[in-house]
Amino acid sequence: MISVSRNEASAEFFDGTARGELLVRRCPQCSLVIAPNVPQCPDCASIDLTWEPAGGTATLVTWTVVPGPDDTAVVAGIVELTEGPWLHARILGVAPEDLAEGLALSVGFQRYGDGEAVPVFHAA
Ligand SMILES: [Zn+2]
Repeated sequence: MISVSRNEASAEFFDGTARGELLVRRCPQCSLVIAPNVPQCPDCASIDLTWEPAGGTATLVTWTVVPGPDDTAVVAGIVELTEGPWLHARILGVAPEDLAEGLALSVGFQRYGDGEAVPVFHAA
């Protein structure tokens, strides 16, 4: 697994994951909650976005299962946060046959190698 490193745009996000918080962006103009990797409000085009912690609950939208090391299955998912934005994240601890659209999930954090802590999701 490739470790994740920060850049200027993601530094605040990874400061959050390091302390166990999943940060999302909010548009102060129109109050829309926006995925952390989206730099501009899709509704009103504001780039003056603020950060705030998400609640950490989500549902599974879609996923793909890819072979991992030692015959394990790695589940790469797209989840919809309760606040609305979608995130790409690994789904851990759920057997591939138990995955289902709408599965209730909660966030956790995982470090791969010496990279940044990244959000992962478990069954809620
Ligand atoms: Zn906006």
